[in-house]
Amino acid sequence: MTEPSIVRRGLMLVLSSPSGAGKTTISRKLLDLEPDLVMSVSATTRPRRPSEVDGVDYRFIDDVAFDEMVKRDAFLEHAEVFGHRYGTPRALVEQVLGKGRDMLFDIDWQGTRQIAARMRDDLITVFVLPPSKAELERRLRARQQDSDAVVQGRMAKANAEMAHWDEYDYVVVNADVQDSVATVRAILAAERRRRVRQTGLAGFVARLTDGA
Ligand code: 5GP
Repeated sequence: MTEPSIVRRGLMLVLSSPSGAGKTTISRKLLDLEPDLVMSVSATTRPRRPSEVDGVDYRFIDDVAFDEMVKRDAFLEHAEVFGHRYGTPRALVEQVLGKGRDMLFDIDWQGTRQIAARMRDDLITVFVLPPSKAELERRLRARQQDSDAVVQGRMAKANAEMAHWDEYDYVVVNADVQDSVATVRAILAAERRRRVRQTGLAGFVARLTDGA
């Protein structure tokens, strides 16, 4: 028998990690498996990589357009990461959450802090760690989309990013992608069932106990 659908508030699931920990792969697999989960597409001033599609991976915009969005208060959060600016457009998030669906964010610790300051009750944060330093380096090299200088820079910054692991609700060590996806799905399943998020529970229970 299938579970009855009880009206609930949408939640915001943040995945953060140093570059190369496997967060993007985990996100893609999660989205394939979870129809009620919608990816937040950030805006960035960073140049597009060859494999990236504008409007799918990011909205690639220039500094002027970014400034304009900041001025309009069109970002839920924004931050500078590795010398480029990144921001989460507010409109889609509000639309998705309003429909009781969930939003997935691939943002850094600075953005996570900003959202936590305003919307803590609706926020679940997960930090993804690589299984070892050697594996992190291997993954950054295997990517081959960035120049050597960029890879070196990111390896140097990985330590600084990982220093923020203890600001997150959950920490997943990504040794095996399938295992990590299953773990994040379990977190999502549990968080969706928190009593306070299931706004339709009172009505559901009233119908269950009707006439008792
Ligand atoms: P990349 O340039 O490799 O795609 O991303 C670099 C870093 O920027 C990653 O840690 C990613 O999580 C972070 N990032 C991507 N989009 C956003 C955003 O909208 N806001 C914030 N604060 N960080 C972001």
